[in-house]
Amino acid sequence: MDVREFFVEKGFDLARLPQSVIIDSGGRESREKAAKLLASAVQCRGSDKPCGECTACRKVGSDSHPDVSTVSVAKGKKLVSVAQVREVRTAAYVRPHEGEARVFIFPDADCMTDEAQNALLKVMEEPPAGLLFVFCLPHAGALLPTVRSRSVTVSLPFEGEEISGAAAEKRRAAVSAFAKAAVSGSEADLIASTVPLDKDRKLMLEVFSLFRVVLRDAVAVRGSAALVSGCGEEAAMLSAAVSKAKLIRMDAATATACAALERNGKESVVSSRLCGEIKNILSE
Ligand SMILES: [Zn+2]
Repeated sequence: MDVREFFVEKGFDLARLPQSVIIDSGGRESREKAAKLLASAVQCRGSDKPCGECTACRKVGSDSHPDVSTVSVAKGKKLVSVAQVREVRTAAYVRPHEGEARVFIFPDADCMTDEAQNALLKVMEEPPAGLLFVFCLPHAGALLPTVRSRSVTVSLPFEGEEISGAAAEKRRAAVSAFAKAAVSGSEADLIASTVPLDKDRKLMLEVFSLFRVVLRDAVAVRGSAALVSGCGEEAAMLSAAVSKAKLIRMDAATATACAALERNGKESVVSSRLCGEIKNILSE
């Protein structure tokens, strides 16, 4: 996926960015690419922003622009600390060194506690001139509604969408089996359908990511929007069998599983937890 093309296709004006953007879905790598694109767009000195060639763009590309900060989970920690967020709060009001704006990228925005998010909200409510927050996470729903309402959310396509040929067929078959097991509502069927994925993290992540697209299609089938997953039959089946509210909850549970896989969670543990959650959602 070309991130820039994607934003342009979505009608995003890169020359006029909102103060806060949430980038969700996709994979970790494409989210970070997208965040850097936005940071370059803000800092670029060229005419067609981001030009990718000026000094500012190159500095953003090499993580050395003084007005672009990345706020990640510190090594050995599991969460972005409130102290880190307080630093951001202070820095947000310092005038940019080289550019027109300060950019703060949160690549692990799903690792921010409510307290940390609330600390940021104060800046978002009274933002200084020239500020861009970019929150990257698998599922925007993990952020506080107050943060979401002050941000524009961009959902990236999943990496898997570029795969073709035999790999795509294998993945499609696995998603189909998982979707059918989900409709059956049987936890045993669900687990059985994920066993072949237990030794292949990449495939499992692709399958769960595609399953999320199928779930979204299933929600959209009701609104007859265009299908994007290429699994129309499965989407129609899910849509007929499962309520919209439950489909959305299944999507959130699958997003959590994807995030766990991205953080090297053990495949069999992640998949059996997801199967249990889907079964619970369906049996309510
Ligand atoms: Zn540039």
